[in-house]
Amino acid sequence: MRPLTVQKYGGTSVGSVERIAAVAERVAARAAKERMIVVVSAMAGETDRLLKLARALSPEPDPRECDVVAASGEQVTAALLSIALAERGVPAQSFLGHQVRISTDSAHGKARIQSIDGERISRALDEGRVAVVAGFQGVDERGSITTLGRGGSDTSAVAVAAAVKADSCEILTDVDGVYTTDPRVCPQARKLERISHDEMLELASLGSKVLQIRSVEFAKRYGVRVHVRSSFNDSEGTWVVPEESTMEDVLVTGIAHDKDQAKITIKGVPDRPGLAARIFGPIAAANIIVDVILQNTGEDGTTDVTFTVPRGELAAALRIVDEIRRDTGAKEVLSDSTIAKVSIVGLGMRSHAGVAASIFEALAREGINIQMISTSEIKVSVVIDEKYVELAVRALHAALVERGEGAHPS
Ligand code: ASP
Ligand code: MG
Repeated sequence: MRPLTVQKYGGTSVGSVERIAAVAERVAARAAKERMIVVVSAMAGETDRLLKLARALSPEPDPRECDVVAASGEQVTAALLSIALAERGVPAQSFLGHQVRISTDSAHGKARIQSIDGERISRALDEGRVAVVAGFQGVDERGSITTLGRGGSDTSAVAVAAAVKADSCEILTDVDGVYTTDPRVCPQARKLERISHDEMLELASLGSKVLQIRSVEFAKRYGVRVHVRSSFNDSEGTWVVPEESTMEDVLVTGIAHDKDQAKITIKGVPDRPGLAARIFGPIAAANIIVDVILQNTGEDGTTDVTFTVPRGELAAALRIVDEIRRDTGAKEVLSDSTIAKVSIVGLGMRSHAGVAASIFEALAREGINIQMISTSEIKVSVVIDEKYVELAVRALHAALVERGEGAHPS
């Protein structure tokens, strides 16, 4: 049987009728030898434009209706691409989420895929057609249209690939792969040939916006090999794959940075059981995601607690924390929104000691003060002053990626 391929084209790749025609050429060439499923995003800027229309009519439009509006962007692209394919003699059929059927929960605006019935797509393929699927959308139990969260067509593509057991899943985008770090910050950044699902999950969650994080979770769960590559040329991109045994040989795979961070310190809180729950319970209840947490052991029966939140949530978090300060008799609350987080990720950290020490040395050589540190099995994150973030990324890249390249540390 001919290989089965899922391709996903992002917004810039289908941003104009000319671009859609170019995508059709590309798909047509592949369709000569492969069975093709193509998942599309809305044309660039379209989802923002649509959501703005809804908000122009109401400050808080009904999420169900917002999804009906937003999902129309992908509907248009899917049909336009099918038309462009037919024009090139390639039979194609568009599918909306509910036609596929991509079943989700009812969390409008951030729905999760629960199951996919690949039956109708398979039938179209058997009849020799290219199946063009509108990304980003699904349908809930009640038959309402749902959307999967911004960037959600990546997840549509990986989930469809898993459901139909595709031989490969290509994400075609406006960058040519996943880089060791942001090339705009560090010219020495280089494209990775491959990266494990776990490393990609860490990097995606740290603001390397190449793939929607849920798509990587899906890929990991179902063992989907994802090829991230450019839609503007034919060169190989980066393979996001299940872990392979040699991957631990490389100490550091990537360095991410995130300026969307703010720090809150509560000083002089009584040091007793239940304190952390008292602080972080209400913050979690307000849906604010706390990242790095630091607590000192105090000497006089009190302690200081510092933690980071997304910058946009600082004001909301401070209102909650101020209440906690009054209730607990804490001394004062300080905040700082000029911080940034730099994270160093690599499977090799699991089995090699000394990576953290090299990180701290590299920062020390540049005179960069570390305010907070957190670690996981394959990641070290440091919180530093925002104004040193570019310098830190370059220094760490030079010390750990360029010099450590292919290194087998002793
Ligand atoms: N069109 C949607 C968005 O802009 C989904 C996607 O592009 O993946 O977020
Ligand atoms: Mg996108």
